[in-house]
Amino acid sequence: MLKAYKYRLHPNNEQKIYFAKSFGSVRFIYNQMLANRIELYTKYKDDKELLKVNKPRTYTSFKYEYEFLKEIDNLALANAQLDLNNAYKKFFKEGAGFPKFKSKSRSKKSYKTNNQGGNIRIEENKIKLPKVGFVKIKYHQQFDGLIKSCTVSQSPTGKFYVSILVDEEDYEWIPAKNKIGIDLGITHFAITSNDDGISEKYNNPKFLRKAEKKLIKAQKALSRKKKGSKNRNKARLILAKKHEKVANQRRDFLHKLSYKITSENQVIVIETLRSSNMLKNHKLAKSISDVSWYEFTRQLEYKSAWLGRTLIKADRWFASSQICSNCGVNGGKKTLDIREWTCVKCDSVHDRDINASINLLNLAN
Ligand SMILES: [Zn+2]
Repeated sequence: MLKAYKYRLHPNNEQKIYFAKSFGSVRFIYNQMLANRIELYTKYKDDKELLKVNKPRTYTSFKYEYEFLKEIDNLALANAQLDLNNAYKKFFKEGAGFPKFKSKSRSKKSYKTNNQGGNIRIEENKIKLPKVGFVKIKYHQQFDGLIKSCTVSQSPTGKFYVSILVDEEDYEWIPAKNKIGIDLGITHFAITSNDDGISEKYNNPKFLRKAEKKLIKAQKALSRKKKGSKNRNKARLILAKKHEKVANQRRDFLHKLSYKITSENQVIVIETLRSSNMLKNHKLAKSISDVSWYEFTRQLEYKSAWLGRTLIKADRWFASSQICSNCGVNGGKKTLDIREWTCVKCDSVHDRDINASINLLNLAN
């Protein structure tokens, strides 16, 4: 799977000059080749044989004529030719407009080069580009894969960027081999059931629960402090720091769990969280679990999209905790303290959360 990553570049002055030359040369060679094609066409349009024999000039032929092109990354020029070929294809096959000349003021300042035998690589906070050498890069997001190509560009405000096309590991798409239903709970963070009949309960890690308890304490401490007092400000700072730490720990836990679920299953069924309920809730303990559920759902969504998984969200009103997963009869509302119940119709004894996750799993079938 190819994926593009974009980063800010911080070139030195010499590199800035080189980039400017490259943008100009790529535009120049494109326009030269286009002019040549138009010239050939007007000359020979009435004789198809002659038109066939008189091939348009390639970018290499221009290099002998214009010395300055020799300074430029050869692959950048080759890509300009590819660009023109594509513009022609679009014109003939897809009925797009005839290729236009690139104007200095209106066309995008960019050039594209390819990775050949490791001539592009990233080392810590630098990227090595052909003919340029090492350029400072703000490598804020790591990737894991083979670099295919890079496009260097400059924004209208003068900032430099590089967009890197990476070939990441291909995940084989297996149609619905493993399915899983996930119920989100309070006593346990998540309860899952898969189509092999295995149910699992995932608790929030102990350290996280501890940290969250401390958070609740700090929140209470803050509310006891006098408004506008020094102590209140101090307490607020302590609370903010705790919030940040807990948020990071929680995210880490959720990443591991969402990774495990999306890598092991092809179809994933979850509840739809009701945001209206969330807004009404002022209790901190409950709001913490709400935040986790939302973050977890968000991670499942984008990881599923990334790995080609099917994510099914149950209908907002789907009564996952009321329906008997064995016979399908609706046993009615159950208060949160009821952890186990027996179906009035088929006598099945249900663990409340496992039953809910099986009901969700059944939506995948
Ligand atoms: Zn039943």
